[in-house]
Amino acid sequence: MENLTLFWHRRDLRISDNAGLFKALKQGKNVQPIFIFDTQILSRLPKNDQRVLFIYQTIEELRVAYEKLGASLWVFRGNPTELIPELVKKHHIQQVFCNRDYEPNAIQRDKFIHETLQKLDCSFSGSKDQVIFEKDEVVKPDGNPYHVFTPYMKRWKEKLNEFYLKPYPVDQYISNLNPGKEVPLPSLKDLGFSDVQAQDFPSLKIPSKIIQNYHNTRDIPSVEGTSRLSLHLRFGTISIRELAKKALETNEKYFNELIWRDFYQMILYWYPKSVNHAFKSEYDRIEWEFDQTQFQSWCEGKTGYPIVDAGMRELNETGHMHNRVRMVVASFLCKHLLHDWRLGERYFAEKLLDFELASNVGGWQWAAGSGVDAAPYFRIFNPTSQQEKFDPKFEYIRKWVPEFGSADYPKPIVEHKWARERILERYKKALNTK
Ligand code: FAD
Repeated sequence: MENLTLFWHRRDLRISDNAGLFKALKQGKNVQPIFIFDTQILSRLPKNDQRVLFIYQTIEELRVAYEKLGASLWVFRGNPTELIPELVKKHHIQQVFCNRDYEPNAIQRDKFIHETLQKLDCSFSGSKDQVIFEKDEVVKPDGNPYHVFTPYMKRWKEKLNEFYLKPYPVDQYISNLNPGKEVPLPSLKDLGFSDVQAQDFPSLKIPSKIIQNYHNTRDIPSVEGTSRLSLHLRFGTISIRELAKKALETNEKYFNELIWRDFYQMILYWYPKSVNHAFKSEYDRIEWEFDQTQFQSWCEGKTGYPIVDAGMRELNETGHMHNRVRMVVASFLCKHLLHDWRLGERYFAEKLLDFELASNVGGWQWAAGSGVDAAPYFRIFNPTSQQEKFDPKFEYIRKWVPEFGSADYPKPIVEHKWARERILERYKKALNTK
């Protein structure tokens, strides 16, 4: 008998302050950390997906970090629903630990693994790690989930105390890591991603100055005024507890943004159908248009609305887009072009380095007016006024749309006033409002 316990890293690619790893180590058995390049997920991605590069580099770093502790990270490529039971059988494992994931596919996968392992007399337990409050921890007095952010945030803050921000002292039990031998790391080529390009990813360092001044700079896309930590939050290379503690001490506005993140994770958990359906079901009655040429112009940043075009080009070139501009381009696709929010959501999902299902669906449904606590349908962003307010000197626009102002820059593909009237009429018809 090997007396081995498994800890499965998923969207928690770090050792320190890792809730599930801490709980696994505390059991006192030899803990073997593993990571699986999930072929079910990889097979759906384009061969030059930069997120795979980010994960790959992070796994390499994690392996080095474990090596320094005299342990090793076993890295596999395959289907976790087969691989985990195989490992359990091979090493006579009785406990598998991980951190919880609230996406519908992940919940299904984990349920399947849980049931399979039960038959092998092995437990499978998840911990809360990627949010401060999960599932039903912040609900209305009657036990139902909040649909409106402000009361949710109020209750969230009332519930918060030191305990929830305390780091898990993984170091205390680090000697329980299994000093086992390395399993070779598959190359990016083996994984089918040799087309990825070298890229500098946003830094993992918490940008204290930016967070201090966040309330003044967060809406200006031409300056470095936001933390750029979304990619790290997505893959758990940073601990949400560490960041939230810092935010609590530094800037309430920034702190509140982290609560939005918990809010959308909670909504996705309760309403998995919102991935494909309007949260407010009457919005599924909207008759969307589809025009391939217009959609393509939006994707390529050639709509003739410079703030929209700058945002889409930033996205296509870097895998990132500023939050203010995300709101503008999303609103433009749904309301000016009258295209289904799901098309935009999928495009973002393919391109964003920080793509995260809960926040992406939440953001898109907010823009379309169909989501929880969404912008009312009749509030239609005017892309020109948004530019005047948030990029008055065209600094952001000139950075991403160098031909802006020349004859090469396209004319607007749709007229604002006309588009506004069209969407109001179409929404009214679907919602049966007068
Ligand atoms: P900061 O402004 O520095 O904020 C700090 C952190 O707070 C972010 O990293 C993020 O984790 C969280 N946060 C900030 N704003 C929001 C928000 N509105 N909703 C939820 N969490 C928030 N965020 C994603 O992480 N993944 C997505 O796929 C995603 N898709 C979006 C789609 C649309 C249409 C919109 C309008 C917003 C989307 N967001 C998404 C939210 C937000 O735009 C990004 O989190 C933010 O731009 C990331 O940059 P940052 O780390 O510099 O953010």
